[in-house]
Amino acid sequence: MTIDDLAAKVRAGGRLDRAEALELYARAPTPLLGRLADEVRARKHPGNVVTYIIDRNVNYTNVCIARCNFCAFYRPVGSPDGYVLGFEEIYRKIDQTIALGGGQLLLQGGHNPDLPLAWYEDLFRSVKERYPTFRLHALSPPEVIHLSRLSRLPVPHVIDRLVDCGLDSIPGGGAEILVDRVRKLLNCYSKATADEWLDVMRHAHRAGLRTTATMMYGTVETVEERIEHLFRLRELQDEDESAGAGFTAFITWSYQPEHTELGGAEATGVEYLRTLAMARLVLDNFDNLQASWVTQGGKVGQLSLAFGANDMGSVMIEENVVRAAGASYCMDEIEIVRNIENAGFVARRRNMQYEVQGEPIFRERSVPRMLELAVARIEGDSSRPPEIARYAARSAAEKKARREQTAE
Ligand code: SF4
Repeated sequence: MTIDDLAAKVRAGGRLDRAEALELYARAPTPLLGRLADEVRARKHPGNVVTYIIDRNVNYTNVCIARCNFCAFYRPVGSPDGYVLGFEEIYRKIDQTIALGGGQLLLQGGHNPDLPLAWYEDLFRSVKERYPTFRLHALSPPEVIHLSRLSRLPVPHVIDRLVDCGLDSIPGGGAEILVDRVRKLLNCYSKATADEWLDVMRHAHRAGLRTTATMMYGTVETVEERIEHLFRLRELQDEDESAGAGFTAFITWSYQPEHTELGGAEATGVEYLRTLAMARLVLDNFDNLQASWVTQGGKVGQLSLAFGANDMGSVMIEENVVRAAGASYCMDEIEIVRNIENAGFVARRRNMQYEVQGEPIFRERSVPRMLELAVARIEGDSSRPPEIARYAARSAAEKKARREQTAE
């Protein structure tokens, strides 16, 4: 088929196959890709509304045994820069989030061998006791797999236990590219194969949880592998959407190479916009696509709204992962709303289910401005949370630290 035939197929509501998607991604002019994605977005979201959420991205630990070579955030077990947040610190972050009008934590972290399943259960339970309506969007599929291996329990069992303690939904981190050749090259095959990542989401959907899906592109993958990633997500969504569950949204961002073992160069803004538009065309069973302004900046984030995105993601209060790799864009609610409205859309607050919660909160009451992003820990803070002693140490480094503490 020619590019014009493929454009006509998209406009008629037809479903692209892998070869057709690849042809469009490789050869369609960028303005045409954008126009097609925008038309599909407008069909799905006719009211011209662009949403965003006020939540806080909390990375509870940076200690990780997975050692993905594209990651600048993790520290190995025993590193003096490794941290685990205390429960009190997490409550303080929740208090600050609530003060800004937020109602959810996006809670993700490294695969820390000294944090057993019971640590997560105690944390979730205590958060729900203190803040009964506060939502926990927590633990990406590789973290769930890590907990399943650590506790020697099957994944569905781990999910059930976490849900019993207050888990509300699962974020789609750790997907990178869902092709095992790529995962082996990125040293993330052992944390989760493509099938294992998809399986966690399948189990989560069966347990009634909503989840999100992501794609990190721009490392070692081919364009065919990016398209394959999108199709694997579309196929799972086909399976689970009919059961009333499934992914609420898709988010793509480019690999951030600074301070990583893998190194290399970051993809350009045009490549981001083409990839986002392609995702809108392939993922015809996803309602929502987020603009990744945290990696692309507010200006490309704003352009994303003309390339298929209908959501500006989160008002970022705290960010540690992409900042560790060099990106440090920051927008508070006023800035996000300014970008949405300046692009000709109506800005609305939403929750994780993409239900509209209302007008921008700063128009309802006064909220503090956030002109820079918070980080998990103030640099040089090496304090240990008191509750960590309640859980048996597994790593040699943690056992040694405990022995030294007792000897003091
Ligand atoms: S991406 Fe996640 S799992 Fe991989 S090394 Fe970084 S923190 Fe660990």
